[in-house]
Amino acid sequence: MRFLAETHSHTSISPHAYHSIQEMIDKAKDLGLELLSITNHGPHTPDGPHEWHFQNMKALPRKIGDLYLLHGVEANIIDMNGTIDVREEVLKRLDLVIASIHRPTLAPGTVEEHTNTYLKVIQNPYVDILGHCGSPDYSFDIDRVLIEVKKQDKIVEINNHTFSTRKASLENCLRIAKRCQEMGVKMVVSTDAHSIYELGKTHAAEQVIAAAGVDEELIMNTTAEKFLSYLCKRKGFDRARFEDEEPFGLPKLPLDIPDIF
Ligand SMILES: [Zn+2]
Ligand SMILES: [Zn+2]
Repeated sequence: MRFLAETHSHTSISPHAYHSIQEMIDKAKDLGLELLSITNHGPHTPDGPHEWHFQNMKALPRKIGDLYLLHGVEANIIDMNGTIDVREEVLKRLDLVIASIHRPTLAPGTVEEHTNTYLKVIQNPYVDILGHCGSPDYSFDIDRVLIEVKKQDKIVEINNHTFSTRKASLENCLRIAKRCQEMGVKMVVSTDAHSIYELGKTHAAEQVIAAAGVDEELIMNTTAEKFLSYLCKRKGFDRARFEDEEPFGLPKLPLDIPDIF
């Protein structure tokens, strides 16, 4: 199985990632990817970008040659009410919103608290993907959360990066992938690349979905078309939104020139 639509990557706007957006684009093209999502951390991450990074992503075209470029964010879940660190008026402009728990921006609570947090996050209409949710420090009631993910037609992420930074997540991730398969919950396999050298590398996540017996049908990012159709359908985007090779921020011509002379 190949994952030609990358749903999660970081760039050097945060110093703990190492390549620019252009370098990530070039590498994605070299690898033959069809789609790259730029999903930098939300502003509450200690080295996260200013909110304006997300607000002004319209300066980037959504199609560069054969590559689709999605404007996204990996928002931080910052409290047990499921609040994320990006305001609605910014979320509205983005194509893709991953919501994740990170230790620097949320201390662990109880299983009941994590479950309720995830339930509220999933109900946020702007959130598309539940990011790397296998950490044992933030265990939750898997079935209760997955029922809601399915109800809201959202996606669970199997994140390759997790298996190096959060090694203890492996068992939980296997359990989650298995239950997603059994319950028919959609998934994506992402690299969460923090450099060009991590792009295209999904070996650990592939082993997890193979061990869990996941069907390709449930993996939404095997091709750009599959992922874009999902987004357009659920979020009501016009498919043409992703075909514009000019930055959306450029004035559209002709201008309606008023007769002032
Ligand atoms: Zn993350
Ligand atoms: Zn990430």
